Amino acid sequence: MLSVVAPMFNESEGLSAFFARVTVVLEGITPEWEIVCVNDGSTDNTLELLKQQHAREPRVRYLSLSRNFGKEAALTAGLHHARGQAVVPIDADLQDPPELIPEMVALWHQGFKVVLATRRQRVGEDWLKRFTARGFYWLMSHLARFDIPENTGDFRLMDASVLAIIRQMPERTRFMKGLFAWAGFRTAQVMYDRPARAAGAAKQDYSRLWRLAKDGIFSFTTLPLRITTYMGALLSAYSIAYAFYLAIRTLVRGIDVPGYASLMTAVLFIGGVQLLSIGIVGEYIGRIYRETKQRPLFVVEESSESHAQP
Ligand code: UDP
Ligand code: MG
Repeated sequence: MLSVVAPMFNESEGLSAFFARVTVVLEGITPEWEIVCVNDGSTDNTLELLKQQHAREPRVRYLSLSRNFGKEAALTAGLHHARGQAVVPIDADLQDPPELIPEMVALWHQGFKVVLATRRQRVGEDWLKRFTARGFYWLMSHLARFDIPENTGDFRLMDASVLAIIRQMPERTRFMKGLFAWAGFRTAQVMYDRPARAAGAAKQDYSRLWRLAKDGIFSFTTLPLRITTYMGALLSAYSIAYAFYLAIRTLVRGIDVPGYASLMTAVLFIGGVQLLSIGIVGEYIGRIYRETKQRPLFVVEESSESHAQP
């Protein structure tokens, strides 16, 4: 069985086009398919449309979360409910062309456990998004101990064995791309041109993307902590040297009062470095706190299974 998992947040506008295109593609591969749709607390009629779709085509299953949990949690929910031997997370806005799936399945049959769909170029995204995305991947490739493939979203095919690993990961902070990459496995890649959104506006605005980028960095590396250590060591070394210099100069030349500028600079600089370091430490503590609470990642309010019999 082949599963497609689609998180959806206010996607009613493009939903019929999405089902039409995905269904045709899946039908061409195998009759044993399912589309697991996760309604991530939509405020439009996405859930109604999902119910209608399920009534027409029972292989379209849905979960409805109790509120908006964000894309990563919604995707996690969908992955937990997928039953296929191969699973493909896909965006509901048709930015991940479903026509790539047959090619991915072919590579999976050749023995690859993961098939990435990597975009050749970003169409319909402004320079700021492209620039920040590039910067982020550059940073991650230098920070993380494993490669997070550039220009590759959540759109990929995963074997059930890979998914089993993902499901075992207990962390609350779900930077899915990172978790997928962390799992490893024999990986192939297909290239595609990412089109602009089919309908509606992007739901992942810059504040969400900024949070996502922070999650990526702080949940996959402790380098920021080490940087503060090195910064502290460097400053201490410098201040010891400077203290000797001052002591000797005072012995030789006597005390001179001026020095307001250097004093002020030192006080402000040290203060700034300390606040920055506390902030970085705090970022990790906040994350430890969130993890220790062990709250569920998402809450399913209803699903196609819970309402199987009308
Ligand atoms: N999405 C979601 N919950 C959210 C935000 C987005 O389930 O809180 C879904 C959205 O419906 C879409 C996918 O995640 O299917 C990607 O969202 P979007 O197109 O806004 O992001 P981008 O393409 O800019 O990464
Ligand atoms: Mg999109």
